[in-house]
Amino acid sequence: MQDAVRSARAAGRPVRVHATGHASPTAAPMDGALLVRTRLGGGVEVNPAAGVARVPAGTRWREVVDAAAPHGLVAPHGSSGDVGVVGYLLRGGLSFFGREVGLAVTRVRAVELVTADGALRHADAAHDPELFWALRGGGGGLGIVTAVEVELFRAPAVTTGAAFWPARHAPALLRAWRRWAASAPRGATTSVQVMRLPDAPGVPPELSAGPVLGLDGAVHGPDEAAVADVVAGLLGPLRDLADPLLDTWAATSASAVLDAHVDPADPVPILGDHLLLRDPGDDGLDRLLDLVGEGSGSPLITASLRQLGGAYADPPATPGREPGALHRVDAAFAWSGAGVPGLSGPAAAIEERCARVRAALAPWDTGRTVPSFVENRHQPQGHLDAAAAARVAAVRARVDPGGVFAGDVQPVLADR
Ligand SMILES: Cc1cc2nc3c(=O)[nH]c(=O)nc-3n(C[C@H](O)[C@H](O)[C@H](O)COP(=O)(O)OP(=O)(O)OC[C@H]3O[C@@H](n4cnc5c(N)ncnc54)[C@H](O)[C@@H]3O)c2cc1C
Repeated sequence: MQDAVRSARAAGRPVRVHATGHASPTAAPMDGALLVRTRLGGGVEVNPAAGVARVPAGTRWREVVDAAAPHGLVAPHGSSGDVGVVGYLLRGGLSFFGREVGLAVTRVRAVELVTADGALRHADAAHDPELFWALRGGGGGLGIVTAVEVELFRAPAVTTGAAFWPARHAPALLRAWRRWAASAPRGATTSVQVMRLPDAPGVPPELSAGPVLGLDGAVHGPDEAAVADVVAGLLGPLRDLADPLLDTWAATSASAVLDAHVDPADPVPILGDHLLLRDPGDDGLDRLLDLVGEGSGSPLITASLRQLGGAYADPPATPGREPGALHRVDAAFAWSGAGVPGLSGPAAAIEERCARVRAALAPWDTGRTVPSFVENRHQPQGHLDAAAAARVAAVRARVDPGGVFAGDVQPVLADR
């Protein structure tokens, strides 16, 4: 790895890095670049006493979950076990435990990386704290990460799953979900999505027969009774409104949260958009459903609101270390919508629908984004304020003065 970076730099070639390619739609073209695809050995090492895992680059979340589970520990993974740990973590990371534990990036304790000079560095609160600060949510372009240390946590009782209703019930269901979300306990993190699933292997026929509204996520807590109470408050009113087509919500182990969201395992060439929203109220939900609900003719395969608030909005308590460049999001919901050109509609129709949704939701747009949720490199991005963006740029100028990793930087419109 170090030799590869040194020789690319000597040849004047930019270096790009990815693990799974899941975020390729957000990547700038890499013509002429050396592409490093990380798949480092050594495996996930869990230190149960410290509650920390050391994860080599290239590892996917499922391996961390499997290594942590025997110790009763849980990782701040996202909705898919096939997403790469490094790309997700350092770009923010919205997990179904996030309203209790915050953005996943706040749980990074140390980062090992090869910088543009070919040096292998260790960055943490005591070693180059400024680089460590920039690595955590700064938008990349600082080097090739070779390993991360991430703090795990406990979730003794967990209920997770997904329920799906015909999309004609979406107006009533979304209103009820929004009312519940306004005062939901932190142990609950959910998402709703209007889905138009193709008739494909692995997709239950009742879900591909027409547009559906899905509700998935996780509720965790100290014991099963406490979790069951929260789940009853969430699902009871929705099940009363209409019978689900399919309902997999059940008390289970924390590892099952990986399978709740029905994500594709392999990278898909999606085209989409993302916003962080204030509470759009029932009016905003209606405007959204006009564009993505039943009868809208939407070409989006998924049109989703992820529940935020709780610890996502708090400055993290990280004794002994300064929080990173991105450490909280002050928003009620993360909007993301995406289609697959050629499968769910022509690219132009998907782009046009995303633009119309963006315009309809503009009154509630915070102007901020979470890098791991950005779906399209052309969309406006705003994960940092102007002061933080300038501070990250100064770190980049120090560790990569020649711009070897410049193509890996997630652009930020800091004045949004
Ligand atoms: C099915 C699916 C479900 C998802 N669910 C969630 C979710 O619940 N919450 C959430 O927040 N996000 C979610 N995401 C988004 C995901 O977190 C981002 O796409 C993330 O960037 C993917 O990381 P990757 O390493 O797998 O992708 P890649 O495309 O391989 O990498 C993405 C970028 O990460 C950086 N990177 C990766 N590895 C390294 C490294 N070793 N050194 C330096 N930089 C590196 C690079 O800039 C690279 O371009 C999901 C994505 C998919 C496809």
